Amino acid sequence: MVELERRDAERRRAVRIGNLTIGETRPVVIAGPCSVEPGYVDQAADIAETGADALRAGVFKPRTHPDSFQGMGLEALPLLAEARRRTGLPLISEVLCEADAEALREHTDGYQVGTRNMQNYRLLEALGDLGRPVILKRGLSATIDEWIAASEYIRRRGNDDVILCERGIRTFETRTRNTLDVSAVVVARELTDLPVIVDPSHAAGKREWVPALARAALAVGADGLLVEAHPAPALAWSDAAQTIDVATLADLVDATHSSPLPCPRLEACR
Ligand code: PEP
Ligand code: MN
Repeated sequence: MVELERRDAERRRAVRIGNLTIGETRPVVIAGPCSVEPGYVDQAADIAETGADALRAGVFKPRTHPDSFQGMGLEALPLLAEARRRTGLPLISEVLCEADAEALREHTDGYQVGTRNMQNYRLLEALGDLGRPVILKRGLSATIDEWIAASEYIRRRGNDDVILCERGIRTFETRTRNTLDVSAVVVARELTDLPVIVDPSHAAGKREWVPALARAALAVGADGLLVEAHPAPALAWSDAAQTIDVATLADLVDATHSSPLPCPRLEACR
């Protein structure tokens, strides 16, 4: 196996997404519905009220079954523009291919590569060439080394604005949707200079479990959270069961913003 090029993890890299910096001062919260749906602008305004730092704004949804809602696609662009105008928050949207990224370029501030596309190397290279920030989710069966190696496909094209996101991996356990690998936060922060955030929603699969997993992520030094939230979670068009309400999100934002700074190495936390 090729050895990972060890980036200087002592010198943490902060990544800017619009007016937000991740990995610099305090941990951040990126929140919003699983997918952009017709009521998105009002939902975004409610989420902004909690003090969240950026909005989930997915319009292309990589659903496991083709009959599931696939996202509003380009029809949602006016909603993104209005949500941005009303909240002033940066928008992050998942892209499945280079054409998606081109189409969203002016309407979003950062891209997300989902777990299913972590090893879509042509996509990663294209995002490297586009030179805009990328949240790279860990593949659902990817090792930490494979995940970091995937980030290099973006970086080798001259784009170092990459944020790693642990979102749970597939194990023998079926009670949770995925198994949140909190150790991955510690290890990835030791092996790379990149910020590492955690998505407790896709790990838990159940909204009642999300706050505890989020706090676990902060406790191990995550640079932020990516959370599914909605003013009426049960009505969310996708991933309703794991979507938290706005009051729960507000508590989580407070807890996150008052968390101690993540430290590069655990020794430094003592
Ligand atoms: C998402 O965050 O919208 C998503 C699809 O998550 P994942 O790629 O982790 O399944
Ligand atoms: Mn989802």
